[in-house]
Amino acid sequence: MEKLLKGKPVADRIKANVKEQVKYLIEKGVKPKIKIVRVGEEDSDLAYEKSALKAMVDCGIEYEVLALPRDISQNDFIENLKSANIDPSVHGILVFRPLPKQIDENVIKNIISPEKDIDCFNPVNIGKVMEGDDTGFLPCTPAAVIEIIKYYDINISGKNAVIIGRSLVVGKPLSMMLLRKDATVTICHSKTKDLQNIAKDADLLVAAVGNANMIDSQYIKKGAVVIDVGINVDENGKIVGDVNTDDCMEKSSYITPVPRGVGSVTTSILALHVAKAALLTIGGRK
Ligand code: NAP
Repeated sequence: MEKLLKGKPVADRIKANVKEQVKYLIEKGVKPKIKIVRVGEEDSDLAYEKSALKAMVDCGIEYEVLALPRDISQNDFIENLKSANIDPSVHGILVFRPLPKQIDENVIKNIISPEKDIDCFNPVNIGKVMEGDDTGFLPCTPAAVIEIIKYYDINISGKNAVIIGRSLVVGKPLSMMLLRKDATVTICHSKTKDLQNIAKDADLLVAAVGNANMIDSQYIKKGAVVIDVGINVDENGKIVGDVNTDDCMEKSSYITPVPRGVGSVTTSILALHVAKAALLTIGGRK
């Protein structure tokens, strides 16, 4: 039995759907477009930008990258963001985070227009995740996890889901999204006591920690589904997840690889959200 939950078929199906939406938009005279706002040249931002742009090109979505200097002031950053907010040719805005220290994300999150906020930065959209209100934008990475679960037809209703990591971009919103799918959700973090035993109770274990190969077979219940969100560089310069995939393979029923797992689905969700934002400008799809 194939145990690896590969991201590519999931991403391909999402992108096929986005292409249909883009075709419809263009028929209606709307050219969907993303604006990426990047400050500085962090390697992780550049890598994500490259794969995001590839997904946009695959789907026929236009793009623009606004590369700002690392030492830009908060006021100048805000002016740029406000210009993107009011630019009618821009449908979705992606701001790479974390922003440098001189720019306060707690200020910026309230400035990005909720209608263009395709990766759920604005509290309006975060609130909609809590409410289960589909008119907002889900954060792309947790949405990718949900799409993988859906694509591979994994039933999580009534199952124990354990998420390791409580960040606002992954762990917290994912907990709400799994709860909405009727899982019984536990969130763990760096202060959690007895993490191994809690993880061992999981039917679905999601690792979103940022600690290379931290999760080994000692954390896994036999037959568990393991989703590895982590993207780390190991001591040999190799991209690895938070889960030691080889060690967990035998005990798990399904496991996502890194690379070519969750990360490869995330950018197709981003494209889907640009199309959704563009559709909203013409009242949605008939
Ligand atoms: P983050 O903001 O640094 O959060 C990490 C979380 O892990 C925190 O809640 C932290 O707990 C917890 N943690 C750290 N060490 C722990 C330990 N030893 N035991 C238990 N919990 C621990 O990271 P993030 O932005 O959520 O990202 C997590 C990982 O996902 C990273 O590897 C990142 O590169 C990756 N990522 C992947 C994608 C994708 O598309 N696949 C997208 C985004 C992020 P505290 O809250 O107590 O500090």
